[in-house]
Amino acid sequence: MPKCHHYGRTQSRVYTSEYHRIQANSFKSLLTKPLGNYSINSDYFSSEHQKFKLTKLECGVRLMTFTINDKPHKIVLIVDKRIASNKLYISCPYCQKQRQSLYAIKYAYGCRQCIGLHYASQSERPQERLMRRIRKLRK
Ligand SMILES: [Zn+2]
Repeated sequence: MPKCHHYGRTQSRVYTSEYHRIQANSFKSLLTKPLGNYSINSDYFSSEHQKFKLTKLECGVRLMTFTINDKPHKIVLIVDKRIASNKLYISCPYCQKQRQSLYAIKYAYGCRQCIGLHYASQSERPQERLMRRIRKLRK
């Protein structure tokens, strides 16, 4: 069995870099494209994560609906008109907050907060934190 440098290593925590995400900026063209069915071309996503329907609400707001695991996941395209560049955001299907990117997880899309991901800098275990405090107190 060939040994690579990852051999024998186990990782218990999940970092955002291991998830594939969709970014609001990449959907800018949807603000002017005709409504209908679209697909994200990416080998990283399952077919359910790729296909979505672009619709428009009465108020003119556009939204993408992904059907994942037979459940609709609605992601609203939010244009921030307060700044000149008309920056685009997408809403998280869970908390409805506007986000710059959403992560693809097994049966959904969600923002970092909702799917409970951790950035590497936040990965310090409570025990390590405690040990550091004890060492500090000893000084
Ligand atoms: Zn969220």
